[in-house]
Amino acid sequence: MNVASLLARSATVFPGRAAVFHGEQLVSDYRGLADRVARVAGYLHDTLALAPGERVALFMANSPAYLEVLYGIWWAGLVAVPVNAKLHPRELAFVLEDAQVACLFADDALLAQSGALIADIGCVRRIIAPDSRDYRAALETAPVAVAFRSPEDLAWLFYTSGTTGRPKGVMLTHRNLFAMTSCYFSDVDPVDPRDAIVYAAPMSHGAGFYSFAHMLVAARHVIPESGGFDAAELCALARRLDRLSLFAAPTMVKRVVDHVAVSGADPSGFKTFVYGGGPMYVEDIRKGLDVMGNRFVQIYGQGECPMAITALSRAHLAERTHPRWLERIASVGVAQSLVEVRVAAEDGSFLASGETGEVLARGEAVMAGYWRNPDATANALRDGWLWTGDVGSLDGDGFLTLKDRSKDVIISGGSNIYPREVEEVLLRNPAVREVSVVGRPDAEWGEVVVAFVVATGVSPAELDALCLAHIARYKRPKEYHFVAALPKNNYGKVLKTELRKLIC
Ligand code: AMP
Repeated sequence: MNVASLLARSATVFPGRAAVFHGEQLVSDYRGLADRVARVAGYLHDTLALAPGERVALFMANSPAYLEVLYGIWWAGLVAVPVNAKLHPRELAFVLEDAQVACLFADDALLAQSGALIADIGCVRRIIAPDSRDYRAALETAPVAVAFRSPEDLAWLFYTSGTTGRPKGVMLTHRNLFAMTSCYFSDVDPVDPRDAIVYAAPMSHGAGFYSFAHMLVAARHVIPESGGFDAAELCALARRLDRLSLFAAPTMVKRVVDHVAVSGADPSGFKTFVYGGGPMYVEDIRKGLDVMGNRFVQIYGQGECPMAITALSRAHLAERTHPRWLERIASVGVAQSLVEVRVAAEDGSFLASGETGEVLARGEAVMAGYWRNPDATANALRDGWLWTGDVGSLDGDGFLTLKDRSKDVIISGGSNIYPREVEEVLLRNPAVREVSVVGRPDAEWGEVVVAFVVATGVSPAELDALCLAHIARYKRPKEYHFVAALPKNNYGKVLKTELRKLIC
C-alpha cells in the first residue's frame, strides 16, 4: 500500500473537509488537495515519464505547495527526497548526485543561489519552481490514479543531518511510514478530525512525518504564513484555529513557553506540542508544564527510525505525584508500540536495567538501510537491531534515559562523563540560557570537561559551586567559555564538533 492512499481515502470519504490552510486562510478541502496531487502525479508519470522508484527531490521552504508535491511524488509511485531548504547549495548538490535525483522541485529564491552548482548535475532532468508557469502547467495535466506500491518499496530517502561527516540517505519504506503513523496514534497522540497540525519546523524533517496521521483522519494542515517558526504567530494561529498541534525541537518549545509566560497569551488553542530531536532539560519542561499546562508529549527517534523509538506520554508528564516523576521527565519515555528497545554493551550483549550502553531499536519503523552504502548499513543494522549511536540506560519500568551520543561521551581520568548530566546542573542557574559541554584532549587526564555557556551576569566560580553541590568533583568543567550563541545546524542541533574545534 502507498502512503498517498491515506490522502486518496480521505478525499473520497470526507471530500468537503478543510485540508490546507496558509496562515488562517483556507486554501483547499480534501477533494481539492487530492485533485492537485493527482495532477502533479500525472505530470511526473505521464509528461516526464518518470518510472516508479525514481527519485524526486524537494528543495522548498514550507508552503501549501509542499504537501502537493510531496504527496504527488508518492501518488505517482516515486521516491521523495525532501532536502532542508536551509542547506548550502553544495550540500544540495551532494544529495542530488548521491540519490541520482531525476527531477527537482525548488523555490526560485533558493535556486537563484544554487543554479550554477546544480546545472552540472547530469541526473537532474527537470527543475520546477512551485510558483512557475511549468508548475501551473503541471496542475493542468490529467489526474492519474494512485500507483500501487508494496510495503517494502522505498518512499522517503531521508538525508541525515550530518553533524559529523557526509550525510547518508536513510531508506524509509512505505511500511516504515505506516508503522510510524500507527505509533503516533497509540503512543503519541490520538488524532481527531477536528485537529490541526501546524508545520512550524521544516517539512523535510520531523514536521513532515506528522502529515500522515493527519491525512489519515482528514484533519487540518496549517502552513504558517512566515513559512517557519515564530512564537507569536503560532499563538495567534492556535487562538484562531484551535486544537493546534505541532512537532517542535526543544529550543522552539522553550521560545513559545517564554512568549506565553511574558505576553500572557492564552495557550488553550494548542492541543499538543510533540517535542524531540534533541535533549529537553528538566528545568525547561517543568516550566513548560507550569506555563502551558498538560500539552506535551516527548518522542525520541532518528532518521533511521523516524519519530518512533520511544515516547514520554502526556499522562507520564502529568503524573507529578509519582515518586520518580523527576527522573521520568528527564527520560525519553518507553518504547513505542511497534518497536523494541534494548541497551547493549559493545559486544552486543543486552545490559540489565540501570546499566549504561548503546541504545538499540528493532521493529517495523526501522529503516531498510542506507542508500547505496552497504558498509554503513552493516554497521548500523546488526542481527535486525538498529545501533542508534545514542548512549542510555533503561530503568525497571522500561523508561529510557539518554546520556549522550556515544561520540560525545567524555572520558577523563578513565571515568565516563556524560555531558548531558553536567548541562542539566548548569541550567539550574536561572542566568544560564543555553549550555553545551564537550571534552578537550589533555595530556594528563585524556580529556577534560569544558563548558560553553550562553549567560549574562554569572561567574565561573558560581557555576563551579553549583556543580560541587550537585555532581561528582571530577565531572566539573575545568574551563568556562562564555559565548553569545551556540553553533547549531539547520535543525537547531548544537554542533559539538564546532565547539571542539574552538578549544583543540
Ligand atoms: P536526526 O536523525 O537528525 O533526527 O537526529 C536524531 C538524534 O537526535 C538521535 O539519535 C538523538 O541523538 C537525538 N534525539 C532525538 N530525539 C531526542 C530526544 N527526545 N532527546 C534527546 N535526544 C534526542
